[in-house]
Amino acid sequence: MNIRKRLTLLFTLLVASILLLFTITIYYFYNQFREQEFYQRLAEKALTTARLRQDVGEVPNDDLPVLSDEQVTIYDERNRVVFQETKDSPTFGVSPGFLRAVREKKQIRMRRGDTEAIGLIFTGKNKQRLVIIVSANDRYGFSKLQRLRDILFFGWVFSLFVVAVAGWFFASDAIRPVSEIIAQVNAISATNIHQRLRVGRQRDELADLARTFNAMLRRLEDAFINQKTFVSYASHELRTPLAVMLGQTNVALMQPRSTADYVTALETVEDEVRRLIDLSNGLLDLARANADVATIHYRPLRTDELLWQARANLIQKHPDYTIDIDFDTLPDQEDDLILPAEEPLLRTAFQNLMENGCKYSADHRVRVMLGVNTDHLQLTFTDQGVGISADDLAHIFEPFYRAERTKELQGHGIGLALTQRIIGLHNGQIQIESEPGRGTSVTVRFPMRQSVPGALSAVITEKLVHS
Ligand code: ADP
Repeated sequence: MNIRKRLTLLFTLLVASILLLFTITIYYFYNQFREQEFYQRLAEKALTTARLRQDVGEVPNDDLPVLSDEQVTIYDERNRVVFQETKDSPTFGVSPGFLRAVREKKQIRMRRGDTEAIGLIFTGKNKQRLVIIVSANDRYGFSKLQRLRDILFFGWVFSLFVVAVAGWFFASDAIRPVSEIIAQVNAISATNIHQRLRVGRQRDELADLARTFNAMLRRLEDAFINQKTFVSYASHELRTPLAVMLGQTNVALMQPRSTADYVTALETVEDEVRRLIDLSNGLLDLARANADVATIHYRPLRTDELLWQARANLIQKHPDYTIDIDFDTLPDQEDDLILPAEEPLLRTAFQNLMENGCKYSADHRVRVMLGVNTDHLQLTFTDQGVGISADDLAHIFEPFYRAERTKELQGHGIGLALTQRIIGLHNGQIQIESEPGRGTSVTVRFPMRQSVPGALSAVITEKLVHS
C-alpha cells in the first residue's frame, strides 16, 4: 500500500472513529433524556390518578392524556388491587417483592421490553399507604429515537464518504512534494550529477529533505570529480615511466650497441622501475589509508621509537640525508609518548615528512622536534629548503599535486595526501607553514590519551590497564 492510500485510510479511520463516538454520545444522551421525561410523565399520571380517585372517587377517562398501552394499578397495604385501569393491554403484573421494594424506596422504575413502569407510594385518606404502579409504552419517544438513530447512521456513512474523498485529496496534496523529489532524484545520474533539487521557499521537513539530498549530491559530486582526477593523474604518472622504459628499450634494440650503452639503458630502465614501485607502494598505502577505519589495527606505540625507525629507513634509502630528532619539551612520564597507532602507516607518514624536508632543501637536512603539552603530543618537521608558495599551499594535500618549482625533483605528489589521511586516522591534525626560499615547518598534533575519542580510546584504556 503506498503512502497516499495509507494516509487516506488512516485519516478516514480517525475521523470515522471520532464521528462514531460523537454519534453514539448523542444517541445515548437523547435516550437518557427520553427515558427521564417518560418516567416523569408516568409519575405525574400515577399521582394524578391517585388524587382524582381520592378526591372525586372515580377517575374520568377523558381527563387525562392517555399514554400508549397505559395501565394504572393501585394496591393497598395488603397488596390487594383497589383500583385498576387497563386499556386493552395485558395486565402489567408485579410481584409482592416489587411492591415491598416500592414501599421501602418510595419510588422504583422498571422496564419490561418496550414497556416502562414506575411504582410510587401515595398516602391516601386514613393514612393508608397505597402503591401505585403505572406502566406504558413510550411509542412516540421510541419512534423519535429510531428516527434519530437512522439519521445519525446515514449521516455517519455519508460523512465517511466525504471524509474519504477529502482525505484522498489531502493525502495527494501532502505527498506531492515527495513525488516531485522522487522524480527529480530519478532524473539525476553520473552525467548530470551537478544538478540540484528545487528546495522551494517552505521551511518544512520536505525542504530539509531536499537540502539534505543536495548536500549529499554535492559530496558525491566532489568524490566523483576527485575520483576522475585521481584516475587521470594516476594513469599519467604510470604512463611516464612506462614510456621512458619503452623508449630506452626501443633505442637499445634498434642496432647492436656497446656494453656500456646497454648498461646505461638498463640503468635508466631500473630507475623507472624503482619509480613505478615507489608509485604503486604509495597508491597502495593511499588505498589502505582510505579504507574503512574498522580495518585498521591500532596498537599502543611510542612516538619517539616510530620516529627513529622512520629515520633509519630513510637514511638506508638516502645515506646523504641528515635527520635530527630532539625533544622540545620532555614528557613527565614515558606513557605520554604513547599513541594508539597502526605502525606501518604512521611510520610511513613520518617518513614522508622527513623525506620532503630533506628532498626539498639543498642541505638535505630536516629537524624533528617532539614535544608534549598538557593535552596533546606535538611533532614539528623543520627544514631550510625551497619553501612552498601560498598558492601551492592551498593545494598541497591534493593527490598528485606538485609545486612547479620542485617538478624537476623526483616524486609523485601523493606523499602529503597520504600523510594527511594517516594523521587523520590517528585523530591528529597537520599544519604547514612555509616561506618560499627560507624553509618549511610541518606541525603534527595528536590528542593525548584523555581526549582520544571512540575506537582509539578503547586501545588506550587497555594500555593503561596493563601498565
Ligand atoms: P612528492 O614529494 O612526491 O612530490 P608530496 O605529496 O610529498 O609529493 O608533496 C607534494 C608537493 O608539496 C611536493 O611536490 C612539493 O612541491 C611540496 N612540498 C612538500 N613538502 C615540502 C617541503 N618540505 N618543502 C618544499 N616543498 C614541499
